[in-house]
Amino acid sequence: MQIADYLSKKKIPIPSDYNKKKRGTKSLTYGLWQQSTVRFILSNEIYTGTVIQGKRKKVSFKSKKFIDLPEEDWIKVENMHEAIISKEDFEKVKKVIKSTKGSRVVQNDYLFKGLLRCHDCGGYIGIRSPDKNGNIYGRCQRYGRFGNFQVCSPHNFNYQVFEEQMLEVLRQVCKEYKNKKKLEEIAKQTKFKQSQEIDLKKQIDSFKQDIEKETRKLEVMYEDRLAGIISLEEYIKNANRIKEIVKGYEQSIKEFEQKLSGESNNEKEKIRLDDLVEEFLKLKKPSKEIIREFIEKIEIHSDKQVDIYFNFKPLQQVNDNLKKFICAKKKYEKKAV
Ligand SMILES: [Zn+2]
Repeated sequence: MQIADYLSKKKIPIPSDYNKKKRGTKSLTYGLWQQSTVRFILSNEIYTGTVIQGKRKKVSFKSKKFIDLPEEDWIKVENMHEAIISKEDFEKVKKVIKSTKGSRVVQNDYLFKGLLRCHDCGGYIGIRSPDKNGNIYGRCQRYGRFGNFQVCSPHNFNYQVFEEQMLEVLRQVCKEYKNKKKLEEIAKQTKFKQSQEIDLKKQIDSFKQDIEKETRKLEVMYEDRLAGIISLEEYIKNANRIKEIVKGYEQSIKEFEQKLSGESNNEKEKIRLDDLVEEFLKLKKPSKEIIREFIEKIEIHSDKQVDIYFNFKPLQQVNDNLKKFICAKKKYEKKAV
């Protein structure tokens, strides 16, 4: 990280910006260096003048997929070009990297991890390890990494308090959804929908009958033509007209059928949502999986306002009608077990 920041301060262009300069695209890290880039460069033997080939190979002649090969199978050719880093330095760095690998503590698996986004920069909200008082804080990751370079702002909040409040909001939304569903108004709406469905089916049937009628007309006309009752010109003119009419009916049938299948898809999604809501309200401690079914993402504003984006429209509507949810600024209180 120190090396990365040193390079950022010196305004050394990052590799992706350097490469893309010709194309004029902007990098996601505001042109600032990331640890991963430094690590990649430090562990790439090409800077010592060695060229490595055969790290990966195609699965088969036909396939486009590649598989990684073990290091002993790589083809290494030394002194292919002038070295920027000496072999000794490279080996020393390799040892340092190896010794720091895995020393970082694995983060806990938090319920809302991966769903939290910074409203202002669009980056992830990181959840940090507990501090000495057992408090866990969420913070904009881009600020955490690049705050020294005036990127974004902290968006700091107490994660434990947030999680409790968030679950409460979800419960409220689910309960409200269930209550709303019970209301007669919605019952009427579904009745209305059912009658709409019947209407659509009736319409489709009548279009089909119309097509039959027109086709019969065409047959009669053909016989008239054979019997010499009408001229060839007349026949062609009328036949074309009838074909156009039939085409119009067919188009309408297609549209109506699409409408019908759309309605039944909505119905299926509603049933899935009803099941999810029931399940969620039964659970004392919901799983990560069910929360991911409900929620697409959660955005945190710098003033701690929380925007929840649901995967289901009806829940979104219920949520938007409730009071805006704001992360409390209070401290988390440990409960006696
Ligand atoms: Zn941010």
